[in-house]
Amino acid sequence: MPAQPTAPASAGRAAHYADAEAVARALRPSYPVYLLRPRRLAENARAFLEGFPGTVLYAVKCNPAPAVLRALYRAGIRHFDTASLPEIAQIAETYPDAQTYFMHPVKGRAVIRTAYEVYGVQHFVVDHPSELEKVLEETAQGRREDLVVVVRLATPPAAGTLYHLAAKFGCAESEAVALLRRAREAGCRAGLAFHVGSQCRTPGAYGTALEICGRVAAEAGVELACLDVGGGFPADYVEMVAPELSLYFEEIRRGLEHNGFSGLEVLCEPGRALVASGCSLLIQVQLRKDARLYVNDGIYGSLSEMVDAGIRLPVRLVRPDGPAPADELHEFVVNGPTCDSLDVLPQRFALPADVREGDWIEVDQVGAYSNALATHFNGFYPETFVTVGDAPLAARMEGHAA
Ligand SMILES: *Cc1c(COP(=O)(O)O)cnc(C)c1O
Repeated sequence: MPAQPTAPASAGRAAHYADAEAVARALRPSYPVYLLRPRRLAENARAFLEGFPGTVLYAVKCNPAPAVLRALYRAGIRHFDTASLPEIAQIAETYPDAQTYFMHPVKGRAVIRTAYEVYGVQHFVVDHPSELEKVLEETAQGRREDLVVVVRLATPPAAGTLYHLAAKFGCAESEAVALLRRAREAGCRAGLAFHVGSQCRTPGAYGTALEICGRVAAEAGVELACLDVGGGFPADYVEMVAPELSLYFEEIRRGLEHNGFSGLEVLCEPGRALVASGCSLLIQVQLRKDARLYVNDGIYGSLSEMVDAGIRLPVRLVRPDGPAPADELHEFVVNGPTCDSLDVLPQRFALPADVREGDWIEVDQVGAYSNALATHFNGFYPETFVTVGDAPLAARMEGHAA
């Protein structure tokens, strides 16, 4: 057998720089570069691990970049909310001691079987009787006591939420009661889950959802193995300040107590709140036409949430060499790189009046749903990651941007 080629010691490790200026100087990148801040990711992870009254799962779909997973793992995250076999495989193969949970309410049969038999996944979310039967059939070879069927409940739309996920997933209370009973009858353990919607800015939404869980649990009259309060915890964006995380944890603690869930195993699945502030993006101006800039990333790349969720991001000019930028700021219309006329950012960027071709722009708070959603449209695909050591732009602009 030929010897395995050995990977260089730096394999999978992103190069490290002091800040965006150092990256621009070293790489002079004409392509977009993600600037990861592992320290910030670790701080975010610690806030959840120390403050949340239960087990913290990272929702992998939000940002599956290896360097992001590594930073969270190093900070102590050992549980992962996964929604597909590739996500499960990525976690299982990189972190053998981590636990994955299958939180997608609709799964292929072979996928259920492989997750259960090959990867040892025990938690499966369902929101419909047919899906529950599918899970029971595809895991029939195993010992049923291993299996935790987690019933996903629909919750009412919460004010200040950017995505209402119950529009697509989750069942009504009466259906949840039937699913819990059926799972117990079949010899499985049973749990409840919900997701109040992403970027949820009303902590009370968790209390409302926990009341629904309380009613369902009382009605079903079966022993619960766990209660999963989902993701939805918000991040800071421009003119969209997130309430303190502690308010959410307080609300959840109160809701658990009031609805008879004290002592039960509780889970949460944050995506956005863990990673949004842990990454910024370095893009380059490739042409200026008066007040219009043409840059190398856009709505088909890292910045689709500017359109889909209407978020606005802190920005600053990066010109490591050359004349000092003008003090005066102008508002610029920013065009993405594809030939599609829709590829224009809805947010105007306030930048020094003399911004010019070859300058870079650092766009902050892009750790969530950026690279994870990027397409290859027109041949443009952002895929370069480095790490930086400075504080995020939003933190430095506190009160102004965030
Ligand atoms: C997307 C998703 C999450 C993460 O949501 P955030 O709003 O990013 O915290 C958690 N759980 C499930 C089931 C999801 O689909």
